[in-house]
Amino acid sequence: MVKHITILGAGITGLSAGWRLSVKGIKVDIFEEDTSVGGLAKTIHEGDCFIDIGPHSFFSDDKEIINAVLGLFKKGPQPKIRKVKFYYNGRYLDYPLTARSVLFQMGACSGLRAACSFLKARFFPFDRREETVESWAINNFGWHLYRSFFKPYTEQFWKTPCSELSSMAIPTHTRMSFINTLKLLLRQKVDKKGESLIEREMLPVYYPDAGFGEISENIARIIERNKGAVHLGCKVTGISELSGGRMRITYNHEGQQKEMESDYIISTAPLHILLKILAPSAAPDVLLSAGRLEYRSLVVLGMLTNKQNILNCDYAYLLDRPFNRISEMNGFSRYSSSDKENIVCVEIPCLIDSSTWKANKEDLFDICIDSLSKDGFIRRNDVKKLFLVKAPHAYPVYRKDYAVHLARIKGYLKNYKSLISLGRCGEFRYMDIDECMKRAFRFADNLE
Ligand SMILES: Cc1cc2nc3c(=O)[nH]c(=O)nc-3n(C[C@H](O)[C@H](O)[C@H](O)COP(=O)(O)OP(=O)(O)OC[C@H]3O[C@@H](n4cnc5c(N)ncnc54)[C@H](O)[C@@H]3O)c2cc1C
Repeated sequence: MVKHITILGAGITGLSAGWRLSVKGIKVDIFEEDTSVGGLAKTIHEGDCFIDIGPHSFFSDDKEIINAVLGLFKKGPQPKIRKVKFYYNGRYLDYPLTARSVLFQMGACSGLRAACSFLKARFFPFDRREETVESWAINNFGWHLYRSFFKPYTEQFWKTPCSELSSMAIPTHTRMSFINTLKLLLRQKVDKKGESLIEREMLPVYYPDAGFGEISENIARIIERNKGAVHLGCKVTGISELSGGRMRITYNHEGQQKEMESDYIISTAPLHILLKILAPSAAPDVLLSAGRLEYRSLVVLGMLTNKQNILNCDYAYLLDRPFNRISEMNGFSRYSSSDKENIVCVEIPCLIDSSTWKANKEDLFDICIDSLSKDGFIRRNDVKKLFLVKAPHAYPVYRKDYAVHLARIKGYLKNYKSLISLGRCGEFRYMDIDECMKRAFRFADNLE
């Protein structure tokens, strides 16, 4: 029976598992290399201001998860409807792209071309297997929208050709198509089984006044109240299996190497990191597969300004700009800066160790400001202060061969009876907060 568990990572997954396990009376020790909790869902405070790694909102269709999160607050965050748009050729289109956007918002000429091109693709499909983003987008939206929209946006974001990306890179791709959004326009529902991406975007969203990171901070407090511990600034550098299935982690804290033994380990670190620190070392083919699973990094530039209501929505996705998404923090919490101020955030996906990743905030501002001015969002003189946040492993990249590599790694990890890899990077799976929590809770409930 598991009495003591160590968890690698104090993101939402590690914290949710720790929370549920600590309620069961299991002793929990969480090790986090960062100096604050939350992982990708943390909030960074600087002076009177705060920003997230791209403003997050909490949403779910699962009552248990909603109640669990709202129960973390004395006075819970209030629900609101999230307004997300594509900013395309100076117009705000629906996000995700819908038949309505194509037919009515992109202009009559573009709408007509898209409709003809879509019909052609229905009769002469590109590649029926639809394994890549390229074939999925052409078959379901036609060449015109693929060339003018899906291809440039996807490649700008992933830095990878659409022909190399698995169609899994498009969330809910199996239910998203021109036809389905046309049906949605007429009937409101695409099908009864689960939600399409569009319906998920319509769920009410919640944002805590003091920043999204408050969710993680409150969970960490409960774990500590339940006699667990969250060890910040502790980078795990080794994991090994001892006799009798017990586990040992080695971690580094303020330059000192320390160890802790436990009955079980949950890792939420990216899979290539887990395999690197696991002893004995995995076979070469497993290590090769771990190296083939790529993550896209993200830098977020925050710009403090007195300008208000800059966007016509909470976030806008953009094409052909140095950044792929823009948002303003006042749309999430008016406490993110002082009364008359606002923070505009732009998100720039990049390769780790690229010049963008290494750039400082002033350089990134120089890269973005011309385009921000041209679009009328914000000018150089409007900006009083800059903030920069970086996430090395923001998005798992679903290349077309990723499933083979993932299966090989998962197969290898099954050799460890007292180790599991969970979470967005730990499972190499796109997940929102609610799904991370759901899977962590389910694992904790089933652990004996
Ligand atoms: C830009 C962006 C916007 C998003 N917006 C939303 C949104 O609005 N709503 C939503 O529901 N979801 C959103 N998500 C998804 C959500 O952020 C993630 O699904 C969730 O935060 C993942 O949590 P996790 O605990 O699985 O992983 P992580 O948050 O990555 O946590 C893993 C933790 O492990 C730590 N770690 C790694 N290696 C080590 C080591 N060796 N030693 C110690 N610690 C280690 C890391 O520092 C990290 O804290 C967004 C994601 C991104 C990138």
